Amino acid sequence: MGKRMVVVGGVAGGASAAAKAKRENPELEVVVYEKSPHVSYGACGLPYVLSGEIPSLTKLIARTPEAFRKQGVLVHTRHEVVEIDPESRTLTVFDHGEGRTFQDRYDHLVLATGARPQIPPIPGTEQEGVYTLRTLEDGERLLQALEGAKRAAILGAGYIGLEVAEAFRKRGLEVTLLEAKDRPLPHWDEEVGGLLKEELERHGVEVWTGVKVEAFRGMGRVEAVETSEGVVPADLVLLATGIRPNTGLAQAMGVALGPTGAIATDERMRTNLEGVYAAGDVAESFHRVLKRPYWLPLGDVANKHGRTAGSVIAGKEARFGGVVGTAIFKAFGLAVATTGLPLERALKEGYRAKKVFIQSQDGAHYYPGSAPLWVELVYEEGTGRLLGGAVVAHGHGALRIDTLAALLHREGTLEDLLALDLAYAPPYSPVWDPLLIAAQQAR
Ligand code: FAD
Ligand code: NAD
Repeated sequence: MGKRMVVVGGVAGGASAAAKAKRENPELEVVVYEKSPHVSYGACGLPYVLSGEIPSLTKLIARTPEAFRKQGVLVHTRHEVVEIDPESRTLTVFDHGEGRTFQDRYDHLVLATGARPQIPPIPGTEQEGVYTLRTLEDGERLLQALEGAKRAAILGAGYIGLEVAEAFRKRGLEVTLLEAKDRPLPHWDEEVGGLLKEELERHGVEVWTGVKVEAFRGMGRVEAVETSEGVVPADLVLLATGIRPNTGLAQAMGVALGPTGAIATDERMRTNLEGVYAAGDVAESFHRVLKRPYWLPLGDVANKHGRTAGSVIAGKEARFGGVVGTAIFKAFGLAVATTGLPLERALKEGYRAKKVFIQSQDGAHYYPGSAPLWVELVYEEGTGRLLGGAVVAHGHGALRIDTLAALLHREGTLEDLLALDLAYAPPYSPVWDPLLIAAQQAR
C-alpha cells in the first residue's frame, strides 16, 4: 500500500501540494480536508468579481473536488481538522455536513491552513453590514451587500483596501478610505503613497489618513463610522486591516513557529516535526535580502510552497529558493509594484541606505499615448548594492519590477543594473529605460 499524505486546507498552498505530489508519485494516497465549501480558487481575483469585471465567483475556481477526484486526489470539503497527534500520526476531523467526528491517519502531513483577517477591536464590528474579504464565501456575502448599498467605508489602505476601493467605485458607491497611518500603502516609502492618494482622489475616493476609527454606529445594522476626524455615513463597511496566519492547529500539535509568528520551515517546507510540512500563508519564507525568515502571504508564494512540499513528499529533489518581497497591484489607472526594502525599512535594518525617486515615461516622448512612469531605487551607500525598489506606471510598464527582483535575488548592484541590456522600442520605453535613468542618477 502507498503512503498516505493528508493536506489540511485546500486553497493555494494545499491544492498545489496535493496536485503536485499525486502527479509526481501516483502511488501516494492523497487526501485534502477543507473546512469551507470551496477548494483551489484564486482569492486574488475577488476584487474583480466585486467590480463586475469578472462575471461570477465560480470563474475563480481552478479545480473542483470532482476534478481532483479524477486525478486521484480525494477532497473533503466542509471537513475541519480539529486536532492532530504527531506521536500516533492521527487526526481528528469534524464533518460539518454530517455533524460527526472521525479519525484519520497520515504518513506525510501538509499544514496549509492559510491566514485570516485581523479584526481591529472597535466597538460595533459584529453588526450587519460590516465585512471582511478573504474567502469565496466572503465574496458571496459582499456581492449581495453591494445590491442596494450606497456608501462604503473601507478601513485600511493596504492591498485589499486599495483594490476594493476601485471595485466599489466601479459599482457606483461613494467610498471613504480610512487609513490609520499617514498615507496609503504605508509599509512603502511616501512618494508611492502620494501618487496613490492623488489617483484615488482623482477617481472620487475620499482618503482619510492618520485617522483613528473609534466605533461603528448602528442599531444592529451599520449606519456610520465614528472616527477621530469626524463621522462617515456608511451602509457598508469593509475591514481590510491586515491578516494573521492560522497557526492554532500547528501550535497545539507542537509545530514550531518562527520569529514572524508563522510556521518555521526549511527550504523543503519541512517543519520541526518529522513528516510534517507547511505551505502558503501559514508558513514563513527565507528573505534573500534580509537573510532571515520573513512572512510574505502572497498567492504566488503559496503555490511555490505547495509545489515544493508536494515534490519533496513524492520523493523528488525540490527546494524553495526564498523571496525578496515582490508584489504588484492595481489602483484605478496605476499599477504599483515593489520589491525588497523601502528606504525607511532599510534604514531601520541598519543599512547605510539611500534612495532615488525619478519620473520618466513608459514610451518615447514622441510616441502617442506614452504616459508617466516612476522608479524608486533603494541602495547601499558605498557598495551600490541594490536593496529594494518600486515602479509605478499606467499599466504593464510596472512589470519592470521583475528586473529589480532578479537583481535582488543575486545581490546585484547599481553597476549590475547599468550593465543590463534592456528592451527598447518607442511604444514601450524611452531609449534609456527608466530603470537605467534611475540607476545613473543613483550612481
Ligand atoms: P488560504 O487561502 O487562507 O486557504 C487556507 C484554507 O485552509 C482555507 O480555505 C481554510 O478554510 C482552510 N483551513 C484552515 N484551517 C483548517 C482546518 N483546521 N481544517 C480544514 N481546513 C482548514 N496574492 C498575490 O500574490 N497577488 C494578488 O493579487 C493577491 N490578491 C489578493 C486579493 C484578495 C482579496 C485576497 C483575500 C488575497 C489576495 N492575495 C494575493 C493573497 C492570496 O490569495 C493568498 O496568499 C493565498 O490565498 C494563500 O493561500 P493559502 O492556501 O496559503 O491560504
Ligand atoms: P495590508 O497589511 O496590506 O494592509 C492593512 C492596512 O490597514 C495597513 O495600511 C494598516 O496601516 C491599516 N490599518 C490597520 N489597522 C487599522 C485600523 N484600525 N484603522 C485603519 N487602518 C488600519 O492588509 P490587507 O489589505 O488586509 O491585505 C491582506 C493580505 O492580502 C495582504 O497582506 C496580502 O498578502 C494579500 N493581498 C495581496 C494583494 C496583491 O498582492 N495584489 C492584493 C490583495 C491582498
